[in-house]
Amino acid sequence: MPLQQRSPQHQYELVSGLEIHVQLNTNTKIFSADSTTFGAQPNQNISTVSLALPGALPKLNKEVVEKAVRIGLALNCTINQTNHFDRKNYFYADLPKGYQITQDNQPICINGFLELALADGSSKRIGINRIHLEEDAGKSIHDQDDRFSLVDLNRAGVPLIEIVTEPDIRTSEEASALLNEVRKLVRHLNVSDGNMEEGSLRCDANISIRPVGASEFGTRCEVKNLNSMRNVRRAMDFEFTRQIEVIDNGGTILQSTLNFDADKGTTSPMRTKEEANDYRYFADPDLQPIYIADDWLNEIKNAMPVLPNQISKQMISEFGITNADAAIFAEDLELLNYFNSALPFINVKKSLINWLIGPIRAVLNDKAITIKQYLVKPQQLAATINLVDNKKLSQKVAVQQLLPAIETQTEQNDVAALAQSLNLLISENTDELDEFIETVLANYPQQVEAFKKGKKGVLGLFVGDVMKLAKGKADAKKINELILEKLK
Ligand code: ADP
Ligand code: MG
Repeated sequence: MPLQQRSPQHQYELVSGLEIHVQLNTNTKIFSADSTTFGAQPNQNISTVSLALPGALPKLNKEVVEKAVRIGLALNCTINQTNHFDRKNYFYADLPKGYQITQDNQPICINGFLELALADGSSKRIGINRIHLEEDAGKSIHDQDDRFSLVDLNRAGVPLIEIVTEPDIRTSEEASALLNEVRKLVRHLNVSDGNMEEGSLRCDANISIRPVGASEFGTRCEVKNLNSMRNVRRAMDFEFTRQIEVIDNGGTILQSTLNFDADKGTTSPMRTKEEANDYRYFADPDLQPIYIADDWLNEIKNAMPVLPNQISKQMISEFGITNADAAIFAEDLELLNYFNSALPFINVKKSLINWLIGPIRAVLNDKAITIKQYLVKPQQLAATINLVDNKKLSQKVAVQQLLPAIETQTEQNDVAALAQSLNLLISENTDELDEFIETVLANYPQQVEAFKKGKKGVLGLFVGDVMKLAKGKADAKKINELILEKLK
């Protein structure tokens, strides 16, 4: 077909569902006491179970179940209080048992959804089809030896959950926003570090296209193992264009499994459906079904933290702050804890928020530390902010001098006394200020003339210079008033 006659891309829409693998942050593996520490020497974290020696039996790690339920609850799922493990049979060098223990037709969580906040401020609901538990496989290493492939089984048996979404995604931006949301959530729930670089969070993207307005789905291709949000977007954008080209050239999309080449930004076939594995799933006879009793489920429910979305909503309604500002607290539990600890000591709540997302954040960035490592205690910060709000201390002096001083005196709870002893407080005495103003005005005879002729803009110059002479220990508004008085 000649190029001009090709359908423009906007006549097709993308349809996608993700399978998101999340590595749970338990200390030990899902079916053994082997450590899950990342970065250990190859084959250091392995026992008879990870090695699949004959007779070695799996024993379920209870914490894994609890963490999966926490995610399920956060994603509005129904918890299958009875569920079981299956064997997914296939042969590969990094899978010594010859099967992966996973869940097939009775997963731990089903039928949930996630409310996705989109960039334009709107929100979109993405259905969660199911969440299932499984073990990770080992790792084959093909590039370290000329003649042999090497196998590292440290990862074998590390607990994973797989979150399978409904095909509700329509753009690559939605897909990466969804991943971002899942990452925030698993971190918030303390079930995973959500680290994509280390593979704790990775996904397969199922992608199809259909004419805009069509109600049936097209044939999907599944791009495997995407390990960054950027690559998810790139793989989807590439597939969208590729599939349109195939169809517009009169071809058909074959259901297939694809690799993504991150260097080239392209996909290539791994296998088509005809060659797809038949995993011959069956219930694993080595493991009893999981039964989550009502009492246990309630215990897990009661221990759930407030979720980021709820925190955002609450902060917006309680303090009248913007969505973006609320999100900063909702996404950072340490910051939220600090905020809550400071709250009882602060006079103006809004000030505390402004300080935490403004100057304090800058200080932390500078020091490359988190708020948890900050030596100024919540109560001390609140007292400092109160001094500023009461015009006893300038913000600049507070940030540049008082807070650093507090860091070296973490037991000093009387912040005002400390500021006093360091001579940082704004003086009540206006004589000194008068003197500074005289000096500054004398320095700028021409500007003073200009001001008197109506050029009010120079006032800022005077105030700034007086402030410098006062070493910041003055209230700008007060200086303003005094200068205006003088120039009347
Ligand atoms: P399988 O077990 O063969 O991978 P699933 O039912 O588990 O099949 O679906 C896998 C994923 O594919 C789900 O995330 C689902 O939303 C998505 N999906 C299903 N059909 C389509 C389609 N036509 N286009 C895009 N994604 C799809
Ligand atoms: Mg699949």
